[in-house]
Amino acid sequence: MKVSKKDHETGRSWCPYCRLPLDLATGVDTDDRPSEGAVGICASCGEVHVFAADLSRRRPTAEEQREIDANATIQECRRAIKRSLS
Ligand SMILES: [Zn+2]
Repeated sequence: MKVSKKDHETGRSWCPYCRLPLDLATGVDTDDRPSEGAVGICASCGEVHVFAADLSRRRPTAEEQREIDANATIQECRRAIKRSLS
């Protein structure tokens, strides 16, 4: 797992869980900017959100949540962020 050194401006939207304003995204194992359907992790609460077409952030659907829960890379990132928060 490698975190990109490149940040992308996403326009301001809010974490759907803790309402923190977010306007940057940094890739894991990619330098690309996020696109519709990509997942992000809030740096404040560690919850996983999904990017809409306009790069605003929404909660995952039930099916997306199952994929997120089964994705080892996402879970590893969440643990790393949650460790840094505690
Ligand atoms: Zn949050």
